[in-house]
Amino acid sequence: GDEQPPLRMLFFPFLLPGHLIPMADMAALFAARGVRCTILTTPLQASTIRSIVDRANTSLGSVDVVVVPFPDVGLPPSAESGTGLTSKDYNDRFLQTAELLREPFRRFLSDHHAEIDAVVSDGIFHWSVDEAAEHGVPRITFLGTSMFARSCTEAMLRSNPLEACSDDPAAVVSLPGLPHRVVELRGQMMDPVKRPHEWALFQLIHAADRRSYGELFNSFHELEPAYAEHYRATLHRRAWLVGPVALASGSGKDVASRGAIAGTLSPEAIGCLRWLDKKPASSVVYASFGTMTSFSPEQTRELARGLDLSGKNFLWVITNGSAAAASVDICMPDGFPTAHRGYVVHGWAPQVLILNHPAVGGFMTHCGWNSTLEAVSAGVPMVTWPRYADQFHNEKLVVEVLGVGVSVGAEDYATWMETHRVITGQVIAESIRKVMKEEGDGDMIRKRAEELRDKARAAVEKGGSSYDDVGQLMEELIARRCSGRKAGG
Ligand code: UDP
Repeated sequence: GDEQPPLRMLFFPFLLPGHLIPMADMAALFAARGVRCTILTTPLQASTIRSIVDRANTSLGSVDVVVVPFPDVGLPPSAESGTGLTSKDYNDRFLQTAELLREPFRRFLSDHHAEIDAVVSDGIFHWSVDEAAEHGVPRITFLGTSMFARSCTEAMLRSNPLEACSDDPAAVVSLPGLPHRVVELRGQMMDPVKRPHEWALFQLIHAADRRSYGELFNSFHELEPAYAEHYRATLHRRAWLVGPVALASGSGKDVASRGAIAGTLSPEAIGCLRWLDKKPASSVVYASFGTMTSFSPEQTRELARGLDLSGKNFLWVITNGSAAAASVDICMPDGFPTAHRGYVVHGWAPQVLILNHPAVGGFMTHCGWNSTLEAVSAGVPMVTWPRYADQFHNEKLVVEVLGVGVSVGAEDYATWMETHRVITGQVIAESIRKVMKEEGDGDMIRKRAEELRDKARAAVEKGGSSYDDVGQLMEELIARRCSGRKAGG
């Protein structure tokens, strides 16, 4: 009869945890709406993805994982997750692995394009736009960032304010045409001269993005309405805001699922939840900087000092991914951490559970978009400490637009352990105290964070803005299928 087979979408995530986790959640949430989802990935990533998808409710549709070998480019075996690499290895060789996935992707598409309604590709695979076009399949980009950061990037690419700007890292650069006045320091922006490879890739990614069918965002309309509007109405781009995806898929609910993302949870990682159980409500600052960021020994010591000086309880995660992890112990101040006030986790921590624990009252973060949105979803105000990529933009959204954070005042775009100005323990402690303060500004910040949390929850419920955007994209894809795109191309 007229019965249509369900929509089928192919998800193609990049290998880094910060890219992979939200895309797995995204596939799960489309599956929950009846889509047949396939995720194309490498062996190590497949187990991570399954651990996320297995916890989600995907009953109406399905998610299968298709595994292709991880290309051998002479990197250490752990490199498949992209973490723990030096800056040089990352730029020279890890990014090549992205290129080597092109052939398996092409093969899969050439075998299955007739059944596939859309490809959701990580932006880093810029070439997937051509592969998809060749097979008449719409390619939708996922860059894993905020609409605010995307809008800033577009403003920068269109007006090229760097051209007229001096090299002085303190020079102020303004990004024109945005809903708010947005200014950045030259030192906070990627430097095309100092980072030619990164810059070239950045250009390719955005050029491919502009040629794509549209873009999926792990965000929600109520969080950044002016930028959703700007993107669609001013830049004339198709965008669907379907997040927070971790809330929508429900995968973050227990230790087992989130813990398994990087293998097994260490006893100290499990112990930190017990430790939190004994702390008063909103009394703990949680400090964690994602999977890629590491600090120099000197900066690590100041961070330890800052946590100590703040006088607050703290939970500090030092991930295996950071090259500095091994040297951390030797640079701690004597007697650190103060036993009853501080808890240090080495390795992977169950971040979503920690942020949702009632004892946690603040989050010191590098402003990776996943971490930022997880904090928003949990109603936890932030101490912001961006380092590179979209993180300075996300900080502006958090501090200046949303008013749910306090900045430590980072001014240099710096990946990994590159030298940058050291933020002192004094400054770190002050920022923490501002966010954790119960009266005055701290109170306002917390109130706003809680309001945003409620809006985030509402967005993914039936009838919410993110729920509706998922439905709208699905309808579009069905209409596209019915209009016989296979015949017309
Ligand atoms: N994460 C986690 N435990 C850790 C470190 C990271 O669960 O110990 C998760 C975190 O919840 C987030 C992701 O890893 O979902 C990191 O992504 P983000 O965009 O914040 O930062 P990136 O690692 O990409 O810089």
